[in-house]
Amino acid sequence: MTSVALTIDRIRTGTAAGSTCTPDLARQPWDAMLGYGPGASMGDVLPTGSPRQGGLPEQYRLASTDELHDRIRAAKATLGDRVVVLGHFYQRDEVVQHADFVGDSFQLANAAQTVPDAEAIVFCGVHFMAETADILAKPGQRVILPNLAAGCSMADMADLDSVEQCWAELEQLYGTEPDADGRVPVIPVTYMNSSAALKGFCGEHGGIVCTSSNAETVLEWAFERGQRVLFFPDQHLGRNTAKRMGVPTSRMPLWNPRKPLGGNDAGALLDARVLLWHGFCSVHKRFTVGQIEQARAEHPGVRVIVHPECPEAVVDAADEAGSTDHIRKAVAAATEPTTFAIGTEINMVNRLAAEFPQHTIFCLDPVICPCSTMYRIHPGYLAWVLEALVRGETLNRITVADDVAANARVALERMLAAKPRG
Ligand code: SF4
Repeated sequence: MTSVALTIDRIRTGTAAGSTCTPDLARQPWDAMLGYGPGASMGDVLPTGSPRQGGLPEQYRLASTDELHDRIRAAKATLGDRVVVLGHFYQRDEVVQHADFVGDSFQLANAAQTVPDAEAIVFCGVHFMAETADILAKPGQRVILPNLAAGCSMADMADLDSVEQCWAELEQLYGTEPDADGRVPVIPVTYMNSSAALKGFCGEHGGIVCTSSNAETVLEWAFERGQRVLFFPDQHLGRNTAKRMGVPTSRMPLWNPRKPLGGNDAGALLDARVLLWHGFCSVHKRFTVGQIEQARAEHPGVRVIVHPECPEAVVDAADEAGSTDHIRKAVAAATEPTTFAIGTEINMVNRLAAEFPQHTIFCLDPVICPCSTMYRIHPGYLAWVLEALVRGETLNRITVADDVAANARVALERMLAAKPRG
């Protein structure tokens, strides 16, 4: 049994003493009408109005794992090039084994473009990823999310209404006129992990999208055009990136959407270089400096690499920080047997450990909570949507309205055009 399956089993049998993983993980995804929201930890709040997955037919709920794998393989073989299955790095192994491409959200959206004959893109990730794939899809391609309850708690922390309210308050404070250098008062920057509506907002307001791989390049682009940046939804990626670029944390106020002026006084906002939205990833916020200290004590010489969605103190204490792609490449590039302590989602860490047996690779967090919303893509849902495609039916299609998609595409294209300096 893998360590993820072991953790889930312990939660299910009530023997996971001290675990702070959400109990949702112990249930099969179809045992509760789950919407988006909870990530990895207890206490994550489910947003109202979040889409919910309807029932999964009994034949998929009762099927054995082996039967589901056989049915998925058979459906894929029948569909051939008409379907492409995408699996995110954080997805469970039972699903990833059926993926034609494995990667981060942006790599996967692009990978789908290399299969132009695919009429259906089955995205085994979370909702915002499927939206991005739909925005970038060719005409006639349909994007399918096998379980509609697979959302992202971070993406849910910034909604369009709250961002528009924030924007109105900032316009009131800063005005809308550019300074003598032609820089507008604020440039909105959204992380890829956000709804299509927010990508559209950025496209419409002179802003841009970033990934964890290119956040620094994108912030440079934004500072050339704006006096300051409004960064959402992940405060940690924004703070860690801007800090590395020399922006003092004292000039990065946090914007709490539930408070007037985000909970700040006007003076702090006037002095701000980066306004950070009060969002975070439930998985990456679990990593701590104490875990790094423990890893260093138990494994002298260990190389600690964490994702920039981790809190500032964790990134500062690590040897390096970078995107999932950076982490993978760093491990692959190590020529000598090395001990790595990795601060990112456990499914990816386990897969790295299996792929690079010459190294010792472990997750910094000994409690090991997987991303619980990603975990809702069970092989039963994958078999269900694939067999429907064989019958000529499209289930769980994700579509982004044309006007939103047009603006979002503008923000994504700006991101692609923003190249690192030098
Ligand atoms: S790992 Fe975090 S950011 Fe990624 S999908 Fe899960 S909750 Fe969202």
